[in-house]
Amino acid sequence: MVFRSYMDIALAEAEAAAARGEIPVGAVLIHDGSVIAQAGNRTRELNDPTAHAEMLVIRAACTTLGQERLNDCDLYVTLEPCPMCAAAISNARIGRLYYGAADPKSGGVGQGPRIFSHAQCHHVPEIYDGIGAGPAQDLLKRFFAARR
Ligand SMILES: [Zn+2]
Repeated sequence: MVFRSYMDIALAEAEAAAARGEIPVGAVLIHDGSVIAQAGNRTRELNDPTAHAEMLVIRAACTTLGQERLNDCDLYVTLEPCPMCAAAISNARIGRLYYGAADPKSGGVGQGPRIFSHAQCHHVPEIYDGIGAGPAQDLLKRFFAARR
């Protein structure tokens, strides 16, 4: 089986988020080789601090599939998930997590709280980091440089 990365779709969602004035992070959920949800951050638009890209795709995919668990799904996200999203990924039982840039400020997977390393974390996805990290990082840098 040939590995196909869906990170380009997540990056496009991150760019669309930046164009809306949102922090440029994008996510996509894959089920049986198809995209079942894709989103960028919408915290400002929705006045919802939980409207991170990962939370939005998890909610949308669960609605579409009519189930609370996403065992057979792959999540692609441009930036290392924060602790909230990492906990949601665990609760959703997502099979595989692919993320781009590391997030030293707010990350909760490879640093900080390292949610998946806790004994209280009952499901740990397979994790692949650094996928498309360059473009994801550039997008964030440009976004924050433009705001200063
Ligand atoms: Zn998050």
